[in-house]
Formats: sequence, structure tokens, C-alpha cells
Amino acid sequence: MKDLKHFILVGPPASGKGTQGRFLADTFNLNSLSTGSLLRREVESCTELGRKALGYMDKAMLVPDEIVNDMVRGWLSEMDNDAWLLDGYPRTVAQAEALDHFLTQRGTSVDVVVWMDVARELIEQRIMHRRECSTCGHVVQTSEEECSKCGGKMVSRKDDNMEAFARRWKDFEAMTLPVARYYEARGLVVKMTVTEEREPAEVSRDLARKLEEYRQ
Ligand code: AMP
Repeated sequence: MKDLKHFILVGPPASGKGTQGRFLADTFNLNSLSTGSLLRREVESCTELGRKALGYMDKAMLVPDEIVNDMVRGWLSEMDNDAWLLDGYPRTVAQAEALDHFLTQRGTSVDVVVWMDVARELIEQRIMHRRECSTCGHVVQTSEEECSKCGGKMVSRKDDNMEAFARRWKDFEAMTLPVARYYEARGLVVKMTVTEEREPAEVSRDLARKLEEYRQ
């Protein structure tokens, strides 16, 4: 039976990676890193790294590989428990190669890559209905104007407009799909194909079952 300790989560924007990432982290007891969240924190704290990344993030463009590679290496090096999940990294084949190189040097490797293969039309529908509370930050699929948690005003997320999505999808197809294929060629992929809207918990159950089969 394979030991699953090093996970990568690959998928287009709004494919449910965040939710399934939390499920995987809880189930397999993993430290998880979302490079998008970490970059946003760097921007908010006005660090040098944040200042470098901001110009790209504002335009919904990928931050250069060297910046993200350094950030992920730093995170992996500081970890005590050697069980992790990377969400949103690697996003390019160059990042995947840099990660391989780094892990090989440390005598370790990626154990499994979960590929959230979600149809574009489905994601477009999700984005159109996704609102975030301007007061408490609650994110939900709704057409309501008022937050169900705190009564605040629900707004569309700044990076959720279709134009930004189209650009991010293009980047995903051009740069990140090859990452999924790179790992697929090495037999490391567990693919979750989602073609119609399903409850996240149901997707998690399917994913758990597939991972069980994969690890045999
Ligand atoms: P996310 O929350 O994963 O969609 O990431 C938000 C933004 O952070 C992206 O639009 C990119 O600008 C940047 N970003 C996150 N992860 C990476 C990565 N692995 N490579 C390059 N840029 C990234």
C-alpha cells in the first residue's frame, strides 16, 4: 500500500480546490499551502515579496516562477511534520520541475496529484452566482443581496468577473494543464471529473474512494 503524504492539487479557478483541499488536509492530516492565499498575505503585509507579486496579481497574471518557487521552498523547509498539500502550485511545468529538483535533493517526492477536472461552463455558472459579504467575507453561491450570516451587503468578488476569468482560464489551459499531464505521464494522477453541479461532500466521498483505489 502506498504511503500518501505529499499531495498536489491541480485545477482551474473556482473548481472547488479550496474545499477539497481542506477535506484532504483533514483526512490525511496534512499541512496545506495555498500559494494564492500566501501571496495575498504578503501583499497585505506590504513585504518586498508582496510588492513584487502585486502587479501580476492585480492583472490576474501568474507571478514569475522564481518568486513562487522560493516561497514554496521556504515553506517546505520550515515544516516539522513531513506531510503536506500544495494547492495552486505548481502552476507551470517549470515550477513542477523546480519542485521535483528540490524534493529529489531532499530524498523525497510527490506521492499523488489530485486533478480537479471541472467543465468550463460549470465554472462560469458558479462565478456568475458567487458573492462575497463585504462585511464578514462569507463566500456563497447566491443571488441574494444580503449576507445570511451578518446581514452585510453581498458583492461579486473583484477577481470574479468574466474578463479576469477568461484570462485565468487561458493561462490554466496553456500553463497548468501541461502540469497535470506531466504528472499523469508518471502515473501520479487521481482525476476527479465533474461535469454537473454536485454537493462538495459528495465529491469528497468520491475522491476518498479514488484515493483508496490509487493507494492499493
Ligand atoms: P489563487 O488564489 O490560487 O487563484 O491565486 C491568486 C493569484 O496568485 C493568481 O492569480 C496568481 O497571480 C498568483 N499565484 C498563485 N499561485 C501561483 C503560482 N503557483 N504561480 C504563479 N502565480 C501564482
